[in-house]
Amino acid sequence: MRVLHWFRRDLRLADNRALHDACQRATDGVVALFVISPEEWRDHDDAACKVDFWLRNLADLKPRLAKLNIPLKIVTASSAKTVPDLVIATARKLGCDAISFNREYEVNESRRDARLIQRADQAGLATIAHHDRCIIEPGTVRTQQGATYTVYTPFMNQWLVVLDSEDVTALPEPRKQKPIDITADDIPTGVKGFESDIDPALWPAGERSASGRLGAFVRDRISSYKAERDIPSVNATSTLSPYLAAGIISPRQCLHAAVESDGGVIRIGKRYKGKPSGAGAWINELVWREFYIHLTHAYPKLSMRKAFRPEYDSIPWSNDESAFHAWCKGQTGYPIVDAAMRQLNQTGWMHNRCRMIVAMFLTKDLLIDWRNGERYFMRKLIDGDLASNNGGWQWSSSTGTDAAPYFRIYNPTTQAERFDPEGAYIRQWVPELADVQGDAVHDPQRLPGLLRSTLDYPEPLVDHTKARDRAIDVFAKVKS
Ligand SMILES: Cc1cc2nc3c(=O)[nH]c(=O)nc-3n(C[C@H](O)[C@H](O)[C@H](O)COP(=O)(O)OP(=O)(O)OC[C@H]3O[C@@H](n4cnc5c(N)ncnc54)[C@H](O)[C@@H]3O)c2cc1C
Repeated sequence: MRVLHWFRRDLRLADNRALHDACQRATDGVVALFVISPEEWRDHDDAACKVDFWLRNLADLKPRLAKLNIPLKIVTASSAKTVPDLVIATARKLGCDAISFNREYEVNESRRDARLIQRADQAGLATIAHHDRCIIEPGTVRTQQGATYTVYTPFMNQWLVVLDSEDVTALPEPRKQKPIDITADDIPTGVKGFESDIDPALWPAGERSASGRLGAFVRDRISSYKAERDIPSVNATSTLSPYLAAGIISPRQCLHAAVESDGGVIRIGKRYKGKPSGAGAWINELVWREFYIHLTHAYPKLSMRKAFRPEYDSIPWSNDESAFHAWCKGQTGYPIVDAAMRQLNQTGWMHNRCRMIVAMFLTKDLLIDWRNGERYFMRKLIDGDLASNNGGWQWSSSTGTDAAPYFRIYNPTTQAERFDPEGAYIRQWVPELADVQGDAVHDPQRLPGLLRSTLDYPEPLVDHTKARDRAIDVFAKVKS
């Protein structure tokens, strides 16, 4: 049997369940495939820096696959609709009997895979689908009544129960195959329409880079993660999100490293009586990632730009395009918001605390539809992932399940004072404010007018107190 392994967001050799299985089953070689699908990527708002990251990771994979005698083929789809037929045609042309892949849970992707399975069956090809994206398979963490959890904490507690009965061993790299007479393709260095202006050195490609990042984080920073994870000027988090999103590293590998660093114990959840440790707090974030993927799997509407709570689909959002533009560019006059948006625009990544601050500012202070922010993030983020991004946006805009209550609105100035007390993050990303002394860096309105006028920095777009009252009023009306 010859197997075609279709790489999607699992661009790694180690602990790749479908690839590993394909290599175990194959008797006549394994061929790897990646589909360049610009129309699909555009429809899904995939960022140019993310596409560039995929290509750089494929270039890293190709010689490593070649060492295992697995040639990597690249095909380009003319449209999203044609992808299943293209994969099947490629499998037939290369003499494969089966197609293997790791499952994806968003609506378009799961429909595409269902079509592939049906058409492959008609064509006499087997399909082998694996669960790999999460530590615990979506659909298997259920309430006693068999329902999907829609609140995080009980989900996390049950997730820990399921974990006990699951084999979550991280698999080694797959075994070497017998050589086959198929030549690997060149990996393109770019795809038209996805030209990235983000420095690739910020996000080096390859499994070695990802495991190096994980190793350094676990060795040097995980124990202080709980205390420092909310301070954006400190390099306190793992910055592994792009690697997890593209599957350069698996969540199981992350879990094992964290548990090992904490004496083999998971210090979170109701069974654990002490205070969560740094590693425990980090594992908790991995479980949030799973929570959102499980919800995406259970609620197709989340992939369809619908609010989890339907009543909030009737909020009379503002159409203020110039305010939205100012938010995108980091020109709102609120230093922490502007610093964060500029970090996103310049690096393809934003600190989690700041993602919450800017998302709340857009949806509450500016009363702009969360879907606009969600789309802008996807178009910019190197770690853009529908489940986590939608989860984060619906949490911040109070439209999601287990979301921030609509009346608890972050004040961007006090958030900055609390989480960036010295203004180091603001000064880094908003150079106009680099020389501002004291707490005026959090709110330049505190400077005397004359001094303020010398700064090339905008006045606040809105008055936070008034904007907050307006948002509460609008949300309360819709809710009632
Ligand atoms: C509005 C908004 C949009 C977001 N969009 C995305 C997105 O598109 N892609 C994405 O991966 N994350 C997203 N997040 C979640 C979070 O901000 C990032 O995962 C995190 O900042 C990545 O940094 P890190 O790798 O250093 O995280 P760490 O703190 O080191 O956490 C480890 C891993 O856990 C996962 N994780 C951490 N926090 C969360 C969270 N709140 N929700 C889900 N998973 C989490 C990530 O995979 C992360 O790499 C979003 C959050 C918000 C509020």
